[in-house]
Amino acid sequence: MAHDRSEAGRHWLFGDQLGPHFLRPDAEIVMIESRAVFRRRRFHRAKAHLMLSAMRHRAAELGDRVRYVRAETYRDGLEQAVGDAPVTVHHPTSHAALGFVRGLRQVEVLPPRGFLVQPDAFARWAESAGGGQLRMESFYRQVRQDHDLLMDGDQPAGGRWNLDKDNREPPPKGEATLPVPAPYRPREDEIDEEVRADLDRWERSGDVAFVGRDGPRLFPAGRAEARRALRAFVEKRLPTFGRWEDAILAEDWAMSHSLLSASLNLGLLDPAECVEAAEDAYRAGDAPLNSVEGYIRQVAGWREYMWHLYWHFGPRYRESNALGHDAPLPGWFAGLDADAVQARCLSTTLAQVRDRGWVHHIPRLMILGNHALQRGWDPAAVTDWFHRCFVDGYDWVMLTNVIGMSQYADGGRITTKPYASGGAYINTMSDLCGPCAYRPTERTGERACPYTAGYWEFVHRHRERLSHNYRTARAVKQLERLSDLDEVLGDARSRDPDAAP
Ligand SMILES: Cc1cc2nc3c(=O)[nH]c(=O)nc-3n(C[C@H](O)[C@H](O)[C@H](O)COP(=O)(O)OP(=O)(O)OC[C@H]3O[C@@H](n4cnc5c(N)ncnc54)[C@H](O)[C@@H]3O)c2cc1C
Ligand code: SF4
Repeated sequence: MAHDRSEAGRHWLFGDQLGPHFLRPDAEIVMIESRAVFRRRRFHRAKAHLMLSAMRHRAAELGDRVRYVRAETYRDGLEQAVGDAPVTVHHPTSHAALGFVRGLRQVEVLPPRGFLVQPDAFARWAESAGGGQLRMESFYRQVRQDHDLLMDGDQPAGGRWNLDKDNREPPPKGEATLPVPAPYRPREDEIDEEVRADLDRWERSGDVAFVGRDGPRLFPAGRAEARRALRAFVEKRLPTFGRWEDAILAEDWAMSHSLLSASLNLGLLDPAECVEAAEDAYRAGDAPLNSVEGYIRQVAGWREYMWHLYWHFGPRYRESNALGHDAPLPGWFAGLDADAVQARCLSTTLAQVRDRGWVHHIPRLMILGNHALQRGWDPAAVTDWFHRCFVDGYDWVMLTNVIGMSQYADGGRITTKPYASGGAYINTMSDLCGPCAYRPTERTGERACPYTAGYWEFVHRHRERLSHNYRTARAVKQLERLSDLDEVLGDARSRDPDAAP
């Protein structure tokens, strides 16, 4: 139904539209807390806590302006909140939610918020590729130019677009943690207490089940907290962000990362303020270019790119399974049972997911995703697992990151080669291998590293496809020269697929 926007009507905020940029001036605000969302899937409890806490904090801030409804479904909630009166909503972040609101005659859908690049600008860029392969690097350069980000006139600041080469340092030797100030830590309040009590009650009644531990809340649940977290990151941790972007230390879960993905994805922060704050630090001489470019590349490049590809590829993208992987997730992985795992890298990472619902990019890609890829787990099940277990996981960001980047299930629409690698990479970039029961260099026998053996098994399984890709053809050649390949494959065949490595 057409709705006159000049008259102050009602405006609906989804739970990931919590910042000021999602409001409509003067409109009465509607928020709906749907229990069915939690009943349908087994979320990490820390994620459920953060989502509910953030919504309830927003409602408390909006005070009399908001009608906050607790209902079974969004449909019930809308009926309770506004009946059949007209309501506006900013473009939601999933195909399912968009289809749902578009199907309601009373709802007018407004343009998306929370991203730098508008849909028409992305469409123009994608068209300029003329049907050829889309590449993040080219998109990112366009965004830098269009938004005058880290530019000196029409040239990139410092003369280079890409400083990735400076951002791959291994962790400092002999250090258990980085010499970097700790990240911002929010303080819980009575809203968190109420959320915890609700979650306990739902769990006790058998209504809803969770995985993982709901320790003290680590991520911002309100705008003021998120602003403080951004300021603390830019002042104290951004200078070392680039250097150790890819490094892992067993005892340092946060390294020098921003920990702002959940705040961005809840809508508490706008990406523009994040990249502007980073650029200001560079211009003031407070942070080096490699860190600032690295951070801006993540937010203005990767995050925007993944958002637009989600819509560009369409809803059927989730069914992609180019490698024909169909093994179910084993129980220890699904249940975050880190203690069942001997491989130190996987056990450490799984424990971090269990305890916080967050690990940084490299453990996601090179430890969790890499293992799933090597074992041939169903990419849709892996995607669902990441979505449920990570505090920053939403449909739009999961599909491209897991189906595309991590599991190569789209056959190479996002990355030029699968992210499969052996233990050598993990050994170089972390301190995990030293005390491990396995050796990263061994692929057979008692001490064979599951990643190294798993890598060769993966290359063997897909040798036909990989031999036709210029980035992986060499791996197939190396495979053909392995003298103990039969033994590697024999070990893989005799392995119980449900056993933890
Ligand atoms: C298998 C897999 C699953 C992932 N799932 C998610 C997810 O559910 N939600 C999510 O926000 N990110 C996801 N990522 C991307 C990335 O790992 C996280 O954004 C990042 O680790 C979040 O921590 P941070 O805020 O400290 O990030 P930083 O390292 O500080 O990076 C800065 C920011 O860049 C953005 N960013 C960087 N890479 C990506 C990317 N590939 N896609 C989207 N945004 C990006 C994030 O907003 C992040 O806050 C995933 C990556 C992989 C490989
Ligand atoms: S030896 Fe292999 S299993 Fe052990 S920590 Fe290193 S990469 Fe992981």
